[in-house]
Amino acid sequence: MFWKNVQRKYALTDHGVKNIQKGTLWTVIVNLVVICGMGILYKLMSGFMDTLTKGSPLPSLLLFIGVTALFLVISYTVHLQQYRATYGLVYGEVKDVRIGLAERLRRLPLGYFGKHDLADLTETLMGDVNRLEHVWSHCLSYLYGSAISTAIIAAGMLAYDWRMALACLWGVPVAFGLLFGSRKVYKKRSEENKKSAVRVADGIQETLENIREIRATNQENRFLEELNEKIDRNEKIMRKGELTIGIFVNLASVIMRLGVATTILTGTSLILGGKVDFMVLFMFLLAITRIYAPFDQALALIAEMFVSQVSANRLQEVHDTPTAEGTEVFMPKGHDIEFRNVSFAYDNQEVLSGVSFTAKEGEVTALVGPSGSGKSTCARVAARLWDVDKGSVLVGGVDISGVDPEVLLSDYSMVFQDVVLFDDTVMENIRLGKYGATDEEVLAAAKAANCDEFVEKLPNGYATPIGENGAKLSGGERQRISIARALLKDAPIVLLDEATASLDVENETKVQGALSRLLTGKTVLVIAHRMRTVEAADKIVVLADGKVAEEGSPAELLKKEDGLFRRMTKLQSAGAEWSI
Ligand code: ADP
Repeated sequence: MFWKNVQRKYALTDHGVKNIQKGTLWTVIVNLVVICGMGILYKLMSGFMDTLTKGSPLPSLLLFIGVTALFLVISYTVHLQQYRATYGLVYGEVKDVRIGLAERLRRLPLGYFGKHDLADLTETLMGDVNRLEHVWSHCLSYLYGSAISTAIIAAGMLAYDWRMALACLWGVPVAFGLLFGSRKVYKKRSEENKKSAVRVADGIQETLENIREIRATNQENRFLEELNEKIDRNEKIMRKGELTIGIFVNLASVIMRLGVATTILTGTSLILGGKVDFMVLFMFLLAITRIYAPFDQALALIAEMFVSQVSANRLQEVHDTPTAEGTEVFMPKGHDIEFRNVSFAYDNQEVLSGVSFTAKEGEVTALVGPSGSGKSTCARVAARLWDVDKGSVLVGGVDISGVDPEVLLSDYSMVFQDVVLFDDTVMENIRLGKYGATDEEVLAAAKAANCDEFVEKLPNGYATPIGENGAKLSGGERQRISIARALLKDAPIVLLDEATASLDVENETKVQGALSRLLTGKTVLVIAHRMRTVEAADKIVVLADGKVAEEGSPAELLKKEDGLFRRMTKLQSAGAEWSI
C-alpha cells in the first residue's frame, strides 16, 4: 500500500519502485553497519587503552586492526550496493519512463494533443523526467532508509538512556514537521515556476514559428520585448521560489543541529550529577553524527521532492488519460463508411449531433456546408482520430471504436490541406506513405501525382532536402507530395480535404489528374469547397450546424426548390464564398 502510493506519487514504473525499495534497504543497512561498526571499534579501542596500562597490548592491538580492516571491507561493500541501487539503477528508470511516456503519447487520442500545447508536452517528456530523476536517485531511498534506520537507532538510544535520547533526537521531528508544514508553499511556488517556464518556451516557439510573418509585418521589436518580459518574469519567480525553499531548508537544518548542543548540555549535567559517565555522552555524540548525516542529504533535497510533485502529477496525468485501444483484427466486409447517429463534442461544445449517412465504396461522397458546420470533424471521426461521444461509425460493418487506431489507419489515405512535411529529401517525404517502399514505387507514385515537374527543377531532384516542414515548397507542391504519399499507400479509403484549394489553374488541372488516379474504386469522403468537385460527386451530404441538412445526388439536390444546397450553389456561382 505504502509503496503503491510512492509509485503513483513519484510516477515510477513497477521496476523503478522495486529499485527504490532496494535502495531503501541498502540505506538502512549502510546506516546500521556504520553505527554498529563505530560502536564496536570504540569498545575495542577502550579495551586496547586498558591493556596499555595493564600488561601486553599486542593481542588487542592486532584485534583492533583486524576488526577495523573487516569493518572497512564490509562498509565499502554495503556502500557500493547502496550506490548501485540508488544511482546506477535509476538511470535505467529514466529511460523506461521516457519510453513508456512516448509509447503512451503515441496511443493517446488526437484530441489530447489539441488540448495540450507542444511546449508543455516536450517539457513533460524532458524537463519533468529530469527533475524526477534527481528525486528518484538522490532523495527517496535516502529519506525512507534514513527514517527506518533512525527509528531503529532511536529505539536503541531510548532503551539505553531516554534523557540523552530525547536531547539528541528532538530536532529531527521538529525539522521535518517544519518542512512538511511548508509543503503547500513549495507547491504553489513550483506551480508558478512551471507555468512561467512553459510561457517562456511557448513564447520562443511562437516567435520562431512565425518569424516570417513577424518580419514581414515589422513586429520584431514588439515580439522580442514581450519575450524579454516573459523571461524576466520567469527569473523573478524562480528567484522567489529558491529563496522560499532556502529559508525553510536552512531553518530545518539549524533546528536539527541544535540537537548537538542539547545533547552536550544534557550529557554534561548528567555527568556532573553522577548519573552517567563520559563514555555515554561520547557514544550519543557518535550516534548523532550518523543520524544527522543521511538526513542532511535528504533535507537538502526534500524541497526538491516537494517541488517534483508538480512534475510527477503531470507525468501521471499522461498515464491516466485513457488511450485509444482496440482489437488488431480488422476484417471489414468492403469499405463503406456508415455514420449512425453520431454526436461529438470538443470540450463540451457539441459540433456533430445525430449525424447519419453512408459513404459507399467506389463512390465519391462530398461533405459540403458553411464554414464551421463540422465537415473536418466528420472526416476526423471517420478515421477515429477522435472517438465519437454517441452513435457509431462503421467501416464495412465493423464499429471502428473497437479497432486499434494503427491497424484501422492502414486502410486510410488522407490528403488534408495542412500537409505535414519533414526536414528530409522529397523522396523520403513521399516514402512516408508506405513503409519500406522501393525507390521505383516512390518514383512511380510521384510521377502519377505530377511531382516530376517541380522536382526536376530542384538542385538534386528527389534527393533535395525540403527544409523544415517543407519551407522551401509552394502550397501546390506540398499538396502534390501529399497526394503522391496517398497514391503510394493505395489504401481503400481516401479522406480528402479538398486538396486543390490553394492551387492556381494550371496546377489544379495537374493535381486533379493525379487525384482521379488516386480515387478510382475507393471509398472517398471529400470535404468539398468548390462546385467542380461537388458536381462530380456521386453523393452530397450537406451539413449545417453539425446536422445533416440534406443528402442526395447533386442532380437531386439541385431540384429541391427550397434546398440549402441549391441556395448555396446559386450564391457561389454569383461569386460569394460560402464554404471555406
Ligand atoms: P468545418 O470543417 O465545416 O469548417 P470543423 O469541423 O472544422 O468545421 O469545425 C466545427 C466546429 O468545431 C467549429 O466551431 C470549430 O471552431 C470547432 N473545432 C474544430 N476543431 C476544434 C478543436 N480541435 N477544438 C475545439 N473546437 C474545434
